[in-house]
Amino acid sequence: MSLDDAAEELASALGVDEAAVREDLEKLVSYSVPMDEAKQSLRRKYGDSGGGSDATPSETDIADITTDSGNVTVAARVLTVGKRSIRYEGEDQTIFEGELADGTGRISYTAWNDFSLSAGDTITAGNAGVREWDGEPELNLGSSTTVTLDEEPLSVPYEVGGERELIDLEPGDRGRTIEIKVLDVERRTIDGRDGETEILSGEFGDETTRLPFTDWDPHPELAEGASVRIEDVYVDEFRGVPSVNVTAFSSVEPAAEVSVSDSATALSVREAVASGGVYDVLLTGNVIEVRDGSGLIQRCPDCGRVVQNDQCRDHGRVDPEDDLRVKAVLDDGTDTVTAILDRELTAAVYGGSLEDALDHARDAMDRDVVADRIAERLEGREYRVRGALSVDEYGANLNASAFDESDEAPEARAAAFLAEVDG
Ligand SMILES: [Zn+2]
Repeated sequence: MSLDDAAEELASALGVDEAAVREDLEKLVSYSVPMDEAKQSLRRKYGDSGGGSDATPSETDIADITTDSGNVTVAARVLTVGKRSIRYEGEDQTIFEGELADGTGRISYTAWNDFSLSAGDTITAGNAGVREWDGEPELNLGSSTTVTLDEEPLSVPYEVGGERELIDLEPGDRGRTIEIKVLDVERRTIDGRDGETEILSGEFGDETTRLPFTDWDPHPELAEGASVRIEDVYVDEFRGVPSVNVTAFSSVEPAAEVSVSDSATALSVREAVASGGVYDVLLTGNVIEVRDGSGLIQRCPDCGRVVQNDQCRDHGRVDPEDDLRVKAVLDDGTDTVTAILDRELTAAVYGGSLEDALDHARDAMDRDVVADRIAERLEGREYRVRGALSVDEYGANLNASAFDESDEAPEARAAAFLAEVDG
């Protein structure tokens, strides 16, 4: 460590002026005092409470770190390392993120410098900052943090390394490794932070479930039907549903054929809503209401938003396009969600195409006849609905990919439900 770095670290740890610390440090080093001893003597001089005879500041158990903790020193095992580029104060910066653990707990970290961390390393991180992220403490390893590698591996009650199945991925995960099959992929042009940029988006699957993904640095290996192993992805959320992010730092390698689950996770409506969002879920319940905005609707040709009186919120007066949709309230006795059916599924429950619906409305001189017929057919009946559930300020919405009348007898379902309740 250079003298400047040591001075900066000490000044920041002790909360004193850096120039004064550097001057003292220079003096001691010029007297041939070893750096560690020099730092220790300055800690005493400037009154570090953790000083005294102990040469290293005392270590904090990870379980004891709170959002109120100041700077801490931890001895920990590196569970995961993810590399990412962010824009911070107008500058692109490469950061490293993941989790550290000791015997008492684990904690997320962000390293603003490259400490060459690898999953499995045992380290002592001195003078790490603690910040609050999403209500939880997180460690910041920056220029005033010292990271030393410890030879003796610390044993921790957590999995070391980032390998996960899709079902176990959660928003906020960093440095994960997955083996998946690309189920669906499309190339899109978006307005990125540096203007127009090409990305890939689509769907991954493995034996456990399916999840949407975005590749910010299009990898040609991510072709439809390909099975690949991807190291270093991170997970964020879109409307409560986990979404996998592949970046320029991810490595993508061909893998042996990955088999993909064909069944959605069956949950009660209450469980599904409580989870905050599920990409591929199966809910069964009664349609208790077909809501307004169902049947024949009109959309803005530019943005696809539903419009009324030819007025789009973003595009003003437009020449709208006709479409079919259903918003059905599904109730299974535990809670309700709104199932949203696209044109194809709506045509199936209506029993006719968009053109048929337009003819129907023209003949009746009333567009509502389409929604009325749909309501007549759906309300009071039980359906199995598969799709992506999102939970946000607009409520709990299930974008249906399949919508089938339940063939199970209500008595059987009631019995199964009671058995579940009774455990
Ligand atoms: Zn619009």
